Amino acid sequence: MNGNNRIYVINAIAARLPESPAADIHPDDSLKTYGIDVFSGKTIGKYLSKSTAAKLLAVASDHKPLDPSIADEVADGMKRWAVAMGATHFTHWFQPLTGGTAEKHDSFIEPDGTARAIRSFSGRNLIGGEADASSFPSGGLRSTFEARGYTAWDPTSPAFIKRHANGATLCIPTAFCSYTGEALDSKTPLLRSVQALTKALKRLMAHFGQPDAHVSVTLGAEQEYFLVDRGFCLLRPDILQTGRTVFGAAPAKHQQLDDHYYGAIRPRILKFMTEVESQLWRLGIPAKTRHNEVAPAQFELAPVFEDLNLAVDHNMLIMEVLRRTAERNGLECLLHEKPFKGVNGSGKHCNWSIAYGGRNLLEPGSNPKENAIFLTILLAVIRAIDLHADLLRASTAGAGNDHRLGANEAPPAILSIFLGDELNAIMKSIETGTSWAASGRTKLKIGVDTLPPLPRDTTDRNRTSPFAFTGNKFEFRAPGSSQNCAQNQMVLNTIVAESLDALSDKLDAMPGDDFNTNLQKLLQRLIRAHKRVLFAGDGYSGEWQKEAAARGLPNLPDTMTAIAPLRDPKNQALFDRYRVLSSQEMNSRWEIAMEDYQRRIRIEGSIALEIARSMVRPVVADEFSKLATALAVADKDGFKVGRKGLKALALKLGAGLDDLHVKCERLDRSLAKGTYSAQIKAMNALRHTVDALEYLVDDSRWPLPKYREMLFIY
Ligand code: ADP
Ligand code: MG
Repeated sequence: MNGNNRIYVINAIAARLPESPAADIHPDDSLKTYGIDVFSGKTIGKYLSKSTAAKLLAVASDHKPLDPSIADEVADGMKRWAVAMGATHFTHWFQPLTGGTAEKHDSFIEPDGTARAIRSFSGRNLIGGEADASSFPSGGLRSTFEARGYTAWDPTSPAFIKRHANGATLCIPTAFCSYTGEALDSKTPLLRSVQALTKALKRLMAHFGQPDAHVSVTLGAEQEYFLVDRGFCLLRPDILQTGRTVFGAAPAKHQQLDDHYYGAIRPRILKFMTEVESQLWRLGIPAKTRHNEVAPAQFELAPVFEDLNLAVDHNMLIMEVLRRTAERNGLECLLHEKPFKGVNGSGKHCNWSIAYGGRNLLEPGSNPKENAIFLTILLAVIRAIDLHADLLRASTAGAGNDHRLGANEAPPAILSIFLGDELNAIMKSIETGTSWAASGRTKLKIGVDTLPPLPRDTTDRNRTSPFAFTGNKFEFRAPGSSQNCAQNQMVLNTIVAESLDALSDKLDAMPGDDFNTNLQKLLQRLIRAHKRVLFAGDGYSGEWQKEAAARGLPNLPDTMTAIAPLRDPKNQALFDRYRVLSSQEMNSRWEIAMEDYQRRIRIEGSIALEIARSMVRPVVADEFSKLATALAVADKDGFKVGRKGLKALALKLGAGLDDLHVKCERLDRSLAKGTYSAQIKAMNALRHTVDALEYLVDDSRWPLPKYREMLFIY
């Protein structure tokens, strides 16, 4: 029995506290080293000729097609830089449909034919690679006899250096496709969706008489995570295998006092955060905000928003740096959406907006024309969410997020939009043509009136909304902390592109040539048609569930129902039309999501059963038999005192032991049958029993680190 290992870990942490040695980082260094591990900006100028550097930068900033004639020079410059930075290997870094990132390192070393070697890296090495990546999920897109995958350089995201104790690796962000060109990754459809949105936006802007301009879609992804002492995690097979606790009784105190949120950050955590930021800044990742989150041991890191594709790559790197740095600090970074039952889970709020010619279109403007554009884009987004809520919901589905969405401390599984009082009043005025209180005017005339400045702080108060307008961007709060943002951003871009095109179509077809009058009519119709998706009340409440149902809004509470829309022919036609995903690619994504979900549930069930049988039951059985023996002795010796207490405890433990047996058998049977919904029920029932036993069994012998320890002792 290893109950004492728990106590051992606590003692080890106590011996280390209170002092954590300072991170070996000087505050002055951050400006000097910012972006030093990235092949961009000034670095490019040092290693490439002027004309090549200009061509490469144009590719990156204006999404111009790459001139293949410069590949060799770029590769050579990149190699010289990387080697100077200590790199020995290069890799095409990509995002397969496992949800993570992938890398296969190749050394720069090449034999030169004279028993010596040179460092070699060609344009061909840079632009494309072939990976025998047959074990990545493809959802039926590849048969094993044609299992090769191909990686293709994405020059819009700069190459970077990943360091380790004995060197470094040059990482080249790439897309990952099958032999026949189907997307096997998250990046490819994301880039396609940006193209679709760009095209649709340019078309709509032409209606407003706007000259052609650069479109940029931006993302700021707020990353939530938990930190737990690694010593505890090593004693929790559930955390090691699934990233979450499948057992654990609620501690007396958890987050009731709201004393962790924005609280003073403890020294050990600050040291960790300092090391994380230092690495991120070297990678040119603009980590900006750090704070304690609502749950004990929960934290958040938010970067400054960036161009979407880059922001997605950066978020993937942020998650990796968090994990790696945690390990180095004797901590485990849990990115699971719900590592601990009963306290807040972790999300990844995706702040999204679109800029045209450098101006953020979700920022209310300073003149009537800018405001007309702002309101039009706003309504296009509202329309998109109303019509395609199912697709957006599908983009956040997953076994981990099932514990969050709709769990009364995270946005509900029903998608609705929060606009804030000011904008609601403006919507009402456009819809009804009646006076709009804040202005004193009789009616808001699109293209003629200027909007009042929208007070930003009042727009952000409704934390229960899954999709909130927060002053100059939409904040999508449903995505889970471990998910790749590309998943939901790809959908958001596509449905908004469709919406923008629908508006352009309608404007094209409207009679009369007064644009502003037509637009006013169109916006009025859009509000009438889609206002059901607007909701300003408490998204966590039971009443909202009922009201949303009455409004006809979909409520898809779990992964299997949430991913079903991926197979809907109407949705497949939409993605096909915008060339973001073919029907085949959509089907493959459904299959991957379904398999991933069912495998995860199975792994959770198996590890729960193993822990219950081989770690919990022996302790309970042992304690029960000791009590039973003591009771028999007390009876024989005719004890008058203590007998009652012994008996009561023995009865409770005995009942718990029987219960444990029954619940384990039930879970075992459901695992054998393979029905995931029965498995979840059986797991919950088993958890109920184990958690009750945790309160009962001798604390010094309980084998699993407890919530009150993991969440507070670090
Ligand atoms: P919060 O109250 O949600 O923490 P912040 O103002 O800190 O709000 O912003 C959260 C995130 O939104 C940050 O990553 C920030 O850079 C990002 N953000 C701000 N403006 C935009 C924008 N125009 N497009 C995308 N993200 C943005
Ligand atoms: Mg936020």
